[in-house]
Amino acid sequence: MASKRQIWVKDVPIGGGAPVVVQTMTKTETANLDATMEQIRKVADAGSDLVRVAVPREKDVEALKTIVADSPIPVIADIHFNYTLALKAIDAGAHCIRLNPGNIGGPDKVAQVAEKATAAGVPMRIGVNSGSLPKHLHELERDNPVDALVQAAAEFVELMERLDFENFKVSIKSTNVPNTIAANRLLAEKIEYPIHLGITEAGTKWSGSLKSAVGLGTLLADGVGDTIRISLSTFHAEEEVKVAWEILKALQLRERGPVLIACPTCGRLQFDMDTVVAEIEQRLEQYTEPVEVAVLGCAVNGIGEASHADFGITGAKNEGLIFAHGEPLRKVPQAQLVDALFEEIDKSLDRGAVDVDARKAAEGAEWLQKIEDENADELTPERIAQMEAEAAKEKGLDVTAEPFLKPVGGNGGASRARPKLDEDASPVTGRRFTRT
Ligand code: SF4
Repeated sequence: MASKRQIWVKDVPIGGGAPVVVQTMTKTETANLDATMEQIRKVADAGSDLVRVAVPREKDVEALKTIVADSPIPVIADIHFNYTLALKAIDAGAHCIRLNPGNIGGPDKVAQVAEKATAAGVPMRIGVNSGSLPKHLHELERDNPVDALVQAAAEFVELMERLDFENFKVSIKSTNVPNTIAANRLLAEKIEYPIHLGITEAGTKWSGSLKSAVGLGTLLADGVGDTIRISLSTFHAEEEVKVAWEILKALQLRERGPVLIACPTCGRLQFDMDTVVAEIEQRLEQYTEPVEVAVLGCAVNGIGEASHADFGITGAKNEGLIFAHGEPLRKVPQAQLVDALFEEIDKSLDRGAVDVDARKAAEGAEWLQKIEDENADELTPERIAQMEAEAAKEKGLDVTAEPFLKPVGGNGGASRARPKLDEDASPVTGRRFTRT
């Protein structure tokens, strides 16, 4: 259900049950209009709902006027230390202002920004970072960093409410994943405002994506978080957007573009799956349709667990099979497998239905059956999993229980009800652990 309250950044709703919003930040010098606009267009194409630009200098405010007018998505101005830049950014037409009330020069400066934002109908993101907590919380931070983060955020929320400004979202960011999870869980229990999630300085594309998936994924699965930004050490901001979407798609919170599934491979693999999967992934980036594509490293198990996929391939030494919705379409020489897969996808998208040639499908089914029969005794990972599922069923374990998250639109599929922690429970997972 996400947060109770909703704000709007131009035409994008955040919180109050709206779909989780994807945002990123440009990496260019904002005043470099050509470079900044090029990056904004790229992140918008990759599916960013919002974009944030740094505004540390007067010349960036100047550029902001053009950026706001030309950007295909709403623009958030990121301001630190200088409240006059925040005032000017609102005049420049920024659709949202991000500031840290703790580093902008005191409550009277925050009040001036809030007054101007109210007059312009511009929302704010107010946030705290683990690296810049107010002085009076430093001692608490040493003893209990999670409480210190939540306390700082709560104090900023109180300040904004005293200023009669309620058009904001809140962020608590830390480089520490468990602290980010614990702090945001606590914050979500305390406030009704939308929450922005992110892991500060998460790292490279590889490590940062994993940290973000663990931290943000855990919170989103709890129903905490209304907008997300993945912070990666890459100049290519669109990579952050792609990772954000993979997290939302994995949790079935939002749907965008194709979903690729691939077997983990094992000793039965009979072709260069790494190259094939990478090529398919890259070619799928051109598609906006939510088509699910499966890649199986061998035909030993038949189509098996990939039968729910819209399309798929399964390879063998010299030949492979294209299938759709669990049924063979045709077998093709190994080298043509990827091109043939995309031919079938394109044809089907054009026609609105899968095109089945009965003769070729029968030929493919026969080829597949032959391989399955020849390898009927193989204990493949899929067959072991199937045997385990059958054994569990026999013991009366319900292996077809309702999924935790139901695939529905928006953030409505996730339950915000968080398990209450008990004394012996991990502050992160809520699971009980044994003291030794
Ligand atoms: S047995 Fe399963 S995991 Fe191994 S290559 Fe075949 S499909 Fe992939």
